[in-house]
Amino acid sequence: MAKADDRPGETWEAVPSMGQEEPTALYIHIPFCRRKCHYCDFAVFVAQGEDLVERYLDALERELALTLGQRRPRLATVYVGGGTPTLLSARQLERLLTILHRHADLSGCLEFTMEANPETVDNAKLRVLAAGGVTRLSFGVQAFQDHLLAAIGRTHTAADAVRAVRLARQAGFHNLSIDLMLGLPGQTLADVRASLEAAFALDLPHLSAYSLKVEEQTVFYRQWVRGELHLPPEEEEAAMYLTVLEETAKRGLQQYEVSNFARPGYASLHNQVYWRNEPYYGVGVGAHGYVGGVRYANVGTLHRYLKAVAERGLPRAETHVVTPREAMEETMFLGLRLTEGVSHARFRRRHGVAMEAVFGPVIAELVGKGLLERDARGVRLTRDGLLLGNEVFARFLLDGGNGGNAND
Ligand code: SF4
Repeated sequence: MAKADDRPGETWEAVPSMGQEEPTALYIHIPFCRRKCHYCDFAVFVAQGEDLVERYLDALERELALTLGQRRPRLATVYVGGGTPTLLSARQLERLLTILHRHADLSGCLEFTMEANPETVDNAKLRVLAAGGVTRLSFGVQAFQDHLLAAIGRTHTAADAVRAVRLARQAGFHNLSIDLMLGLPGQTLADVRASLEAAFALDLPHLSAYSLKVEEQTVFYRQWVRGELHLPPEEEEAAMYLTVLEETAKRGLQQYEVSNFARPGYASLHNQVYWRNEPYYGVGVGAHGYVGGVRYANVGTLHRYLKAVAERGLPRAETHVVTPREAMEETMFLGLRLTEGVSHARFRRRHGVAMEAVFGPVIAELVGKGLLERDARGVRLTRDGLLLGNEVFARFLLDGGNGGNAND
């Protein structure tokens, strides 16, 4: 970690808290899944009845109304994630979209993404989504080998993924993405190559590829503790990632973030809001938001969420006023995920101080190690830096975590 005296004292406290502008991005969390995947630690609830979904939508509407106010703000991007939003029935999806349009103005919306699991989409749901303004679908495919999908607890097959993409196209969706996963138990480099080939055969404009992380509170964590989880060695996982970089480049999918690749014009606008450290609303159980310089997190279990909305309206579990110093750290460690990096001009505009004046010694050290490169435009990861991203990002957290004021 960098030391506190890496930074000139006068810059820190003199800078006003930023990130105060009105968000134009909204995240909505739908927490239901058919079954919990073995690696998943998201706020997800399995096998819930119709009535609970309706109660959740009621609560979501109340939170949305309180969060967005009476003004029906204009939104530029919306992202409905989960969970599995497309586990909702066509009628429930229609209700969700009606609620959204009631409280937000989507007439100038540039991108409206919904996450979808391949086995849960059908023509009726896709028609509802298209009519409700959804413009982009992101499918959780993860791999094109059925034995790997079964091993990680997914409930779809490779054939389901191909079918879902075909149905989506027939319903008029062209802005389509799939997620793949690397470093799965039993996965080989040949499997990754085969999954990439299968993805390229679908001719998609966007692809994400994430490495498996074993999180606490997951089936995989418990297996790992017992010594029963057999993951590919680190060098093989690095080779998988390098293969993704090489093969996507050959197919004209440009890398624009550590794990994301797109044809020109198809980079996710909504996710760039996060990486550029810009404000956004978040609603739903376990959702996070960043509004008026304050980061918040909602309560993370369904029943507490429903109770909190019913009893006190906003279901916040934590709120944290981001200090100027934390905002600068966030601009760096989020922005460096983007291949464009962090621009000097953007940093100065946002924080009122030069990036080098604050992070000069850390940047110089990481440039010296070949992990960052800098030029007149800004600072970005090198190819070696991409492989050691988390180590690089951590160097910009000058004195460790943000903390938070629990108020739940
Ligand atoms: S489908 Fe996604 S959100 Fe649901 S359990 Fe699996 S990984 Fe988690």
